[in-house]
Amino acid sequence: MEVVLQNLTKKFPGRDKKNREDVIAVNDFTFEIPDGKLIGLLGPSGCGKSTTLHLISGLQKPTSGRIFFGEDDVTQLPPEHRGIGLVFQNYALYPHLNVKQNIMFPLQNLKGKDKLSKDEMSKKALEAAKLVQIEELMSRKPGELSGGQQQRVAIARALVKMPKVLLLDEPLSNLDARLRLQTREEIRRIQKATKITTIFVTHDQEEAMSISDMIVVMKEGVVQQIGKPQEVYDNPANLFVARFLGTPPINVFDGEIKGSKLYIGQDAVLDIKGSADREVHVGIRPEGFVLKEDGPLCCQLSGVEVMGRDISVVSTHAASLNPTVRSIIGTDNRVDGSQEKVRFALLPRKVFLFDKQTQERIDFDV
Ligand code: ADP
Ligand code: MG
Repeated sequence: MEVVLQNLTKKFPGRDKKNREDVIAVNDFTFEIPDGKLIGLLGPSGCGKSTTLHLISGLQKPTSGRIFFGEDDVTQLPPEHRGIGLVFQNYALYPHLNVKQNIMFPLQNLKGKDKLSKDEMSKKALEAAKLVQIEELMSRKPGELSGGQQQRVAIARALVKMPKVLLLDEPLSNLDARLRLQTREEIRRIQKATKITTIFVTHDQEEAMSISDMIVVMKEGVVQQIGKPQEVYDNPANLFVARFLGTPPINVFDGEIKGSKLYIGQDAVLDIKGSADREVHVGIRPEGFVLKEDGPLCCQLSGVEVMGRDISVVSTHAASLNPTVRSIIGTDNRVDGSQEKVRFALLPRKVFLFDKQTQERIDFDV
């Protein structure tokens, strides 16, 4: 099912006594979610992710704008008629019901021609349980399950009616690191097997990048960029997006274009064609640094961390806006940790320039 959001806006009345201004949780959000894809809705806490999901589910009504499921305008349709499955961070299982009863629960209220017999309900519950591989746990109560198992039950319950759209709100936040990794792969597998259009909300960029067909990056209710994860990483629209994606995060410096050269402090780090002289922010991905004895960027070495797969060189630079400059280099490099200084050349496609005022990306040629 294709989902279309048209100029979707949600305002909440300001309750703060000193500030009666409305909170604009979602601001003019327009986006087409293609049928059968998994979309990662990504942004820091409070940026409007859950509100967007609540609008799509019908739990909240937009202040303005419209929502379409395929051809149908569902903006005014109550949640139970939208054909959605919802999974929240805190599972929200019924503690007194066993796993099977929890999964069957959404089927019990079906009326009229949709009404199911006990046997049909059992069969559907088992199918959903098999999808998330918990069919041996059917008679347990939620209190007798681990966090990961409880979340699988919640996912099975969301799937049991075979929804047209699956909405997941930070479903992995309560799991430990290893389970989080495993469960996110599981969600991807289930999504591919069922081809249900899925919107996955998270504040964790790595999570969103790893499983999404497309990511939507939000900040303060406003969409910043939409695209395939790698495309957004390689071509961030602005400094916020560049900073939000990637671990370790992008290194940001104060810089200046002067006489067709890009300067970071006193260091002329790149030749730049046809750009007027101006001040800029320079973003350099950690993998954009190349160790080079006579390299143009000169940093004060703080330490070298050998991480197994690669080496992380930690240094400082007077023009850096981050407390440290973090660069990642291959393990075939040798860095003498006792050196005072370390010099780098830069890979131009890993270097981004941003306007100092608007923070929008500036294109350049080398
Ligand atoms: P996220 O899920 O990205 O953390 P939310 O969508 O929950 O963000 O919230 C977005 C903004 O809207 C926040 O500033 C939040 O305080 C505000 N907000 C959310 N729900 C309500 C509400 N029911 N009443 C007033 N403000 C709300
Ligand atoms: Mg939220």
